[in-house]
Amino acid sequence: TSPPPVIGRFAPSPTGPLHVGSLVAAVASYAMARRQGGLWLVRMEDLDTPRVVPGMADDILRTLECLGFDWDGDIMQQSLRADAYGAALQRLLAAGHAYPCGCSRAEIARAATAPHDGDGEIPYPNLCRGGLLPGKEPRSFRVRVPAEPVEFTDLVMGPQRHDLAAICGDFVIKRADGLFAYQLAVVVDDEAQGVTQVVRGADLLSSTPRQIVLQRLLGFDTPAYAHVPLVTGPGGGKLSKRDNALSLAAGRDLTREGGLLLLTALRFLGQSPPAELAGAPGARVLQWAAGNFDPLAIPTAAAPFHASP
Ligand code: GLU
Repeated sequence: TSPPPVIGRFAPSPTGPLHVGSLVAAVASYAMARRQGGLWLVRMEDLDTPRVVPGMADDILRTLECLGFDWDGDIMQQSLRADAYGAALQRLLAAGHAYPCGCSRAEIARAATAPHDGDGEIPYPNLCRGGLLPGKEPRSFRVRVPAEPVEFTDLVMGPQRHDLAAICGDFVIKRADGLFAYQLAVVVDDEAQGVTQVVRGADLLSSTPRQIVLQRLLGFDTPAYAHVPLVTGPGGGKLSKRDNALSLAAGRDLTREGGLLLLTALRFLGQSPPAELAGAPGARVLQWAAGNFDPLAIPTAAAPFHASP
């Protein structure tokens, strides 16, 4: 019996042009799916409508095309999937895994007593878990997190153990502004698309245990996860907008520059593409990646994106 096919995906948010960090995620997800003869899907994560910039979804797709990427099937668009997210929310509510919450941000900040890690996230003290507090209207919906830490092994970052009760408490799956939360949408979409392997930037590593909790409560399989290192600016800080943006609209000549950008992304990912690929078009570099990518060579530390020598 042959193993089930790998289904990978790339899920950009059209809040700006493709950037260097998302290029790295695109290359890694593409190569890790195609090296195993798998499918590579693209999903447009235009769920957070207030942050979507008009024209950027097309800009990202044209940039991917110019670079030589070819995706399988139709592009899933989150802005069209409110019904699917609503159905998942209803299932969680009906099973008692989710509940309405009437707390505002300010009230949560005042009520939080537990020490938190200081990166801005205040764990929700689960005030509405036993029912809406008296006099409150439902604002958002939250999912109950388990008392035990969530464990999984990331293909790049290794064994993980995240204590969601201490990190975030019961987290929001439908926001007070009526939008479904990223965590719920991604879980519903990955399941709907049959995704078996999620490769994305390390900034999303902390989202993975939350997504695993939702998968378990909804009865979905958990895909394999690989989080690739973040790209920093030259000094280790944030990348400037100008160095970061990759699109024709941002003034980049991608037909000329594309192969080189992909080679740089592959080196960033610890791969050793042969010297004769210098000057090759993007599609040719991606073909090499599909045949030769070694996930075990991916480093774990954030690093700058060096222009190739
Ligand atoms: N849309 C997310 C982003 O661009 C990525 C989500 C994911 O890969 O799960 O940061």
